[in-house]
Amino acid sequence: MSDVIVIKTKEELKLSSLKRGEVHRLQIQLSDNSLGVPWRVPVIAVRGKNKGPVVGLTAALHGNELNGISTIFRLVEDIDPNKLSGTLVMVPISNVPGYLMNQRNFSDNVDLNRIMPGRSYGSASGQYAHYFVNKIVKNFDYLLDLHTASHGRVNSLYLRADIENEETRTLAYLQNPQIIVKKFDEEGTLRSWANEHGIPSITIEIGNPNAFQHTLVDETLEGIMNTFRHLKMIPGKVEDMVTDAVICENSYWIYSKKGGIIDVLPRLADVIKKGQLIAKVYDVFGQVKEEIRADKSGIVIGKNVRPNCDAGTRVLHLGVNIFEPDTETIPGHEDYSTK
Ligand SMILES: [Zn+2]
Repeated sequence: MSDVIVIKTKEELKLSSLKRGEVHRLQIQLSDNSLGVPWRVPVIAVRGKNKGPVVGLTAALHGNELNGISTIFRLVEDIDPNKLSGTLVMVPISNVPGYLMNQRNFSDNVDLNRIMPGRSYGSASGQYAHYFVNKIVKNFDYLLDLHTASHGRVNSLYLRADIENEETRTLAYLQNPQIIVKKFDEEGTLRSWANEHGIPSITIEIGNPNAFQHTLVDETLEGIMNTFRHLKMIPGKVEDMVTDAVICENSYWIYSKKGGIIDVLPRLADVIKKGQLIAKVYDVFGQVKEEIRADKSGIVIGKNVRPNCDAGTRVLHLGVNIFEPDTETIPGHEDYSTK
């Protein structure tokens, strides 16, 4: 255990004021809470000795999605600022009130990742989002936004990225995911705001909420370190990471029509066929009320693990229209590195 140092509180994140070759731990002040003092967001800035890009990693923008915190702590341990070119800005807990309440949303029950970039004269969540973007995220050259599944559901390790765009496709292919969903940027997400403002960004979905899952965190770290190598922030060979990934054109949730006790059958990352039985909904006497079948062939990205369900519960997150990656555009691939 290292000596715990006093954490400085700052009005905003000013990277040029932070000494190179050091790790800086700061609290950045955002909008006021009901104690009449600002919410303070923890920021860890690993300032490389040499110049290079600024890569931002944000975790727990949904307050109960915790695997990204473990990922960030591992990076703090592993990255030596004296051997780093550029700067890592890591925000282990982006949604502080949500984290304190162990919930996805902000204290006013608004999803921060639907209202970015917020408004300076908006609601409580809107103001917090506004300062989060303007005081912290605006410093980034690249953004990896770390998420997990929602409450009551589990996820594989998967990415949401616009792979029509060369820069975000490269970021996506540098990771080591099980599945990539070729998503265009949904309105109001942090990723969407960043991509619109010249900060290439992807969303990394790491497993389940309310937990640290070390195997998935290890796999996420492999991809992140690969990204740092690609950006020449750390030395080493860029690995071809996308060979085992399944890429889907799009994805959607399949819902239950009946309420009762639900049993979802396939495992995560299983490939399933159109018409395959994916869940049974029982009444409380053990009789099957509904058999839910896949309406298309695809791959299981996420699934419900909470058996008690109302009608209209999300059952299974299906990735569909699977296609092969274009290997010529994979970083580290021979054809790519000769360009
Ligand atoms: Zn999330």
